Amino acid sequence: MKKARWAVFLVLAVSLSLAAQIKNSAPQLKTYTVIRAGTLIDGKSDAPRRDQLIVIRGNRIDRVSDAVSTKIPAGATVIDLSQATVLPGLIDSHTHIFLQGEDPAEGGYDANILKYPLSLRAARATVAARRALEQGFTVLRDVETEGAGYGDVGIKEAIEGGYIPGPRLLVATRAISTTGGYPLEGYAPELVMPKGVQVVDGPVEARKAAREQLDHGADWIKVYMTHRSWVDKQGHLVSQPTLTVGELKAVTDEAHGQQRKVACHAYGGIGLHRALDGGCDSIEHGLDLDDDAIAQMLRQGTWLVPTLAVYYYDWSPENTPEGQRDRARASVHEVSFKKALKAGVKIAFGTDIGGIPWTDPIAQEFGYMVRFGMSPIDAIKAATSKAAELLDVKGELGVIAPGAYADIIAVSGDPLTNMDALKEVNFVMKDGAVFKQAK
Ligand SMILES: [Zn+2]
Repeated sequence: MKKARWAVFLVLAVSLSLAAQIKNSAPQLKTYTVIRAGTLIDGKSDAPRRDQLIVIRGNRIDRVSDAVSTKIPAGATVIDLSQATVLPGLIDSHTHIFLQGEDPAEGGYDANILKYPLSLRAARATVAARRALEQGFTVLRDVETEGAGYGDVGIKEAIEGGYIPGPRLLVATRAISTTGGYPLEGYAPELVMPKGVQVVDGPVEARKAAREQLDHGADWIKVYMTHRSWVDKQGHLVSQPTLTVGELKAVTDEAHGQQRKVACHAYGGIGLHRALDGGCDSIEHGLDLDDDAIAQMLRQGTWLVPTLAVYYYDWSPENTPEGQRDRARASVHEVSFKKALKAGVKIAFGTDIGGIPWTDPIAQEFGYMVRFGMSPIDAIKAATSKAAELLDVKGELGVIAPGAYADIIAVSGDPLTNMDALKEVNFVMKDGAVFKQAK
């Protein structure tokens, strides 16, 4: 009896001190917020609707209906976006909050790992997360920390705890590749250099890495199925394959058993085909998709996260092997994207931001998708309801509909006639709380 009372007291004391620490910003369940939307793109429908009211109860959307016929609940806070286009919070399915643009003048990729204390990298990741939220991205699938270990799990916990602002994060932690399959590289062979991923050789090590990463908080597993690329004598882009099908299957089997998914970086050729044979859930980049690969993706329901914009950055001079590779990558990528789009491959918006400086607009990717043939509404869906499907949060995020979380943004222009309007997000609500509202 006495013991039981102590136990109750302890539980109360612990939960009170936790409650004091956690500054949760989500409004109370009984509070109502109403958004007047001049134009509503709900993330799922093909056409926008005019003059809608979004009624939010606590952190979820209660109902969406015509402004004329809807009664505003008594005591509700009303947010007037009647001059704006309102959309669901955007989803970037391929980010790296622990990368900062890899500027060669600042030491490129290697400096991240060799020179920056982890605390500095975590501080910059905190800024990156805030930058994403400011731009209306309320969900990120962050596909590995590039040598910063499980730092993404900590940033995610800090956001969820209300200590720092940021999007909802789905994190991949360390990622997996093979010996010879990831930087740091090019140093004297006598030196044991740290790597930007967890290196595995053989199915046993591959399965163990997946188990470790899942155990330490990975929401997704990221695997690099190709590494270096170059242009061969026939002028074709060739990519070095990394894991074998057997190694990859050990990873996907382990992840799928725990109801987690596997994102595979793959450009083309042998590595891409191994990625599909090994059961990857999403192909990242997919620069050089041949017809067989596209057919297999359709059969298996594999997603494509193309990340177009990043391949237009930092091209080496044209008359160098690197320069030829950079140009070949961009040109085959455009062809692949168009083929995949035409064939009906499921496409989710992703940018590889972090590979691009966080100071640049994440929404620039929309412009490339539309330029290469996707309709503006489908490009928006790729960053809302379609991405939500990839991330297994369909109906809860990426949509403005009853029951969904109140992640809502607004822009002043019309993104359906000018995608660049999405670069100027002036209202951001996450989980029912206003994060940004331009005066
Ligand atoms: Zn990436």
